[in-house]
Amino acid sequence: MNASPFSCLLAAACLLPVPALAGPPGAHVHGAARLQVAVDGSTLNLQLETPLASLVGFEHAPRTAQQKQALQAMADRLRQANEIFTPTPAARCTLVSVELESPLLQPSPPAGGDGHADLDGSFVFRCDDAAALRDLEVGLFASFPKLRRLDVQVAGPRGQSAARLSPQQRRVSW
Ligand SMILES: [Zn+2]
Repeated sequence: MNASPFSCLLAAACLLPVPALAGPPGAHVHGAARLQVAVDGSTLNLQLETPLASLVGFEHAPRTAQQKQALQAMADRLRQANEIFTPTPAARCTLVSVELESPLLQPSPPAGGDGHADLDGSFVFRCDDAAALRDLEVGLFASFPKLRRLDVQVAGPRGQSAARLSPQQRRVSW
């Protein structure tokens, strides 16, 4: 088994500075991820940035069939974004696009680097009644149990806000 959030802190290969609990924007923290929520007209835009360790538990090029399968299953799951992200039902939002980017999702993942790898996901919903859009329930924790914390930033019609989600607190409101 690989990298619990804490084993990384001890591993010699883990050379990134270890941020305090509230890391700076862009911090790569195993077990955590960041989500930017933007409401723009009828469009709900979600940008996920996460260490792969927070999703599949490793960040190196897959070495076994099981690891390849884990990456594939992760990507398949995220592409079903309408089952992971639930905007306010009254807003009647439908998923229109999903884009996933990660070095490990390329046909031949690059070796080397600093041993860390992220996944960036872009999820776009179109909403029939965007004025009713008031919150978002995030189901990432159920699908990815290694994820323990999600720092959310919202840019909505009434300004910006931030929230920290967890397996116990899965809904962000604005
Ligand atoms: Zn990492």
